[in-house]
Amino acid sequence: MYTTNSISRKAGFHRFGLGTLELTVVSDGFIVFDPPQPILAPETSKACFKSALESHFLPSGFVKIALNMLVIKNGAQVILIDAGAGNTMGDSSGWLIPNLELAGIRPAEVTNILITHAHSDHIGGILTSTGDLAFPNAKVYMPRNEYEFWDSGTVNLSKSKLVDKEGFIRFSVPIIQAVKKALGAKLILFEPGQILFDFIKAIPTPGHTPGHTSYLIMSEGQELIHMGDLTHHLLLFEYPDWGFEADYDFKEGIVTRKEMLHRLAETRQLAFSIHLPWPGLGHVRKKGGAFEWVSEHFTSFSAM
Ligand SMILES: [Zn+2]
Repeated sequence: MYTTNSISRKAGFHRFGLGTLELTVVSDGFIVFDPPQPILAPETSKACFKSALESHFLPSGFVKIALNMLVIKNGAQVILIDAGAGNTMGDSSGWLIPNLELAGIRPAEVTNILITHAHSDHIGGILTSTGDLAFPNAKVYMPRNEYEFWDSGTVNLSKSKLVDKEGFIRFSVPIIQAVKKALGAKLILFEPGQILFDFIKAIPTPGHTPGHTSYLIMSEGQELIHMGDLTHHLLLFEYPDWGFEADYDFKEGIVTRKEMLHRLAETRQLAFSIHLPWPGLGHVRKKGGAFEWVSEHFTSFSAM
């Protein structure tokens, strides 16, 4: 059993350069899966899952996943990729704004928010607890097919392994509707594969949701790939088939995850993940018939 007593919200930030860009990872907190199955590895035996967690020196009764948010500064342009959970997921999350302020970034300075997908832990933070825009000057960019899926009025999760599909829809759709209403003309839909602001390529990576998008950030020959929610846990590198219950298409999620991990292992590109251990930066390499996450090595607290 996991409790959230005595949580420190000052999880901080991590700043680094990519070409001419200044990138900052800011913590929005974390999410607890208690129990960890069936949300992770819904079809894997309890004994197998427990022993895999223990092999990573992790507790087996619950799983904590990070909420790492990436900010890109390009001159006066301040681009946030996803906006965190806001007040949609409890006390252990929704820490983005105080931590942005610790990093010297005021919410009013954010010019653009790119959305990987429309789950609550990624779009909930667009709104304050009173339903106002948390980033009053930001335009929000969402993949068109992602928006249309959730806005269709007939959300179909028949290919997911979710036990309570209706409950998930009842929870998710009103958040998307509230965001849509508050944003009005500030919500901009883009086509999959589009290049945004000349240096960010939107790469369609469907499966977790229909319009799930990863972002390739490029500057002066340096690249970083923001994976979005292709992997929620280290174990999904070792066992990419174990999957995630809330993937809208469980099988497509596995195919897309393997394709991206293969690509990252081949290109040796620096990768970023929202839900992997803070600050979510690392590389992917092949291991056995699957993959392994190799975290970046940090030698000191790297705030500039
Ligand atoms: Zn997520």
